Amino acid sequence: MICKNCQSELDESFDYCPHCGQDTHIKRLNWKSLSDNIAKGWFGSDRGVFFTLGALFSRPGTMMKEYVEGKRIQYFGPFQMLFLLAALYYFLHFFFGFESETLLDNGEIHKIDEEIIQITPFVRQLITFISNNLTLLWLLSLPFLTWMFRLVLGHHFRKTYNFVESNFMITYCISQLMVFNILELILDFFFGAAVNLTGWIYFAFIILFTWNLKQIVGGSWMHNFWRSVGIFFFTMILIIISLFIIIIILGLSIESVNINY
Ligand SMILES: [Zn+2]
Repeated sequence: MICKNCQSELDESFDYCPHCGQDTHIKRLNWKSLSDNIAKGWFGSDRGVFFTLGALFSRPGTMMKEYVEGKRIQYFGPFQMLFLLAALYYFLHFFFGFESETLLDNGEIHKIDEEIIQITPFVRQLITFISNNLTLLWLLSLPFLTWMFRLVLGHHFRKTYNFVESNFMITYCISQLMVFNILELILDFFFGAAVNLTGWIYFAFIILFTWNLKQIVGGSWMHNFWRSVGIFFFTMILIIISLFIIIIILGLSIESVNINY
């Protein structure tokens, strides 16, 4: 038997590798490991959060591949990382009253919003909630994003990695986005409305995501840049379509309740 972390030759009877300490029973990620990882993955990482954050910004795609392929012990799990960063984000957002730009500040959306107010105050509340919680929206979109990731990366990628493995990679990617969002909150706090950073933050993230893809599947910067743009553009279209469907259904059902009274 070979250790999946350090590749040393092991006796079959060992539960842990004597060289690096990793569990020898680590298997390919599947649906069961998804729930196991979310529930129990908080401990058992050697070097923890800061090492993993460092890796996410210095050799991002390579570390995601390593994690999925079995080098788990040195990394903090993707879901734990995302929960931790999301908690930090909301802590800064609510506790310190840091304000990030919201969709409602945007003229276009505001116009749409005005029309929807006439339907029902509930829908207005929903839109306000979503636009104040864009980060939450990215969390909810993880399955969409994983699906689009697999679609864009093609047949060879889908044959090499299953859905859960792709989802672990995408979750690390959204952790990277969360770091950028936290940075934006802090910069907004110090520089106020003087500079609008949202566009730059997303641009920087797309460049980082391009680097992730380059290390995961190879290929040129240009090719992977367009893959990245495609993945996020089409996921956003999917999200917008589903939000519109939800809003229309909610709007109609509440309207019919009002008529009944
Ligand atoms: Zn080992």
